[in-house]
Amino acid sequence: MTPDISIVIPVHNEQEVLPTLFKRLMPVMQGLNRPFEIILTNDGSKDESERILDEYQEQYPKNIRIIHFNGNFGQHMAIMAGFEQVRGKIIITLDADLQNPPEEIPKLVALADAGHDVVGGYRMDRQDRRWRLFVSKWHNRIRAKIAPNLDMKDEGCMLRAYSREVVDAMVSTAEKNTFIPALAMCFASNPAEVGVKHEARTEGTTSYNFYKLIRYNFDLITNFSLVPLQVFTLIGMVVSMLSTAFVGFLFVRRLVIGPEAEGVFTLFAIMFLLMGIILMGLGIVGEYIGRIYSEVRARPRFIIRRIKQSETDLRKVG
Ligand code: UDP
Ligand code: MG
Repeated sequence: MTPDISIVIPVHNEQEVLPTLFKRLMPVMQGLNRPFEIILTNDGSKDESERILDEYQEQYPKNIRIIHFNGNFGQHMAIMAGFEQVRGKIIITLDADLQNPPEEIPKLVALADAGHDVVGGYRMDRQDRRWRLFVSKWHNRIRAKIAPNLDMKDEGCMLRAYSREVVDAMVSTAEKNTFIPALAMCFASNPAEVGVKHEARTEGTTSYNFYKLIRYNFDLITNFSLVPLQVFTLIGMVVSMLSTAFVGFLFVRRLVIGPEAEGVFTLFAIMFLLMGIILMGLGIVGEYIGRIYSEVRARPRFIIRRIKQSETDLRKVG
């Protein structure tokens, strides 16, 4: 039977939470009374996740499929690999760590049934570390300014539902440094948002440190907006106008007062400020170029080591 609903879950070193995940997710899915499949991508876990996932697949062979990656390719590539395999009409992404409670899935399904092709969850009463909340808040604000077409309350919330058409469009992009919730918004015609509960991570640890978060934020911004580059063009224009005026001012002083050597340190200060701006601009250009480079190298986005699914599935896939 072709499934109606597909759940896609990325897994990276989640041995502690996986048993609870299945214990809570299966009843929710069975309660919906529709054919479903759960696709879990093991994103190069180094703990017992691989064995645990395979065991659950054997326990529920009809409903669970596991993709084992050849290494760690990142959360969004793990979801992308799941997207390539889905067969359902409604596709739901979920984090393995249970921070988005699976019990909220029926809410998303109801909105998807009502014809929304992208249903974004936003976290009500978010339970995360202080610094994470702070980074997210600022990130959201900057993102809203820089890429206003990505109208989302909470792009960091991974509990989301997509129509098959949107998922197929995302798979066809072949982008590597992508950010799935934002990518989906590029293809959405009738998006909706719904508040979902959020829980603190009870077991396991987050895979994200500060540096990784910054990288993701750069990905999000550079992938979906050229505004940073344009801001630097504008700054460049303003600075050149100001310095033209300054040169004029100095020229007049030279004529009126004669040669003078004062103000050297002021000039130094101005120079260093400008050098800072130039270096930052260069960095931003570099961010774009680095991404262009990684896209044109056209290395595979991810490598699948093996897929564990039931025999009947294997025959169907060929
Ligand atoms: N994840 C992944 N690959 C990675 C990092 C994370 O597949 O390289 C998965 C992880 O197992 C979890 C989800 O992505 O299911 C979100 O990760 P995490 O909970 O560590 O992030 P946070 O909630 O702190 O943003
Ligand atoms: Mg989490």
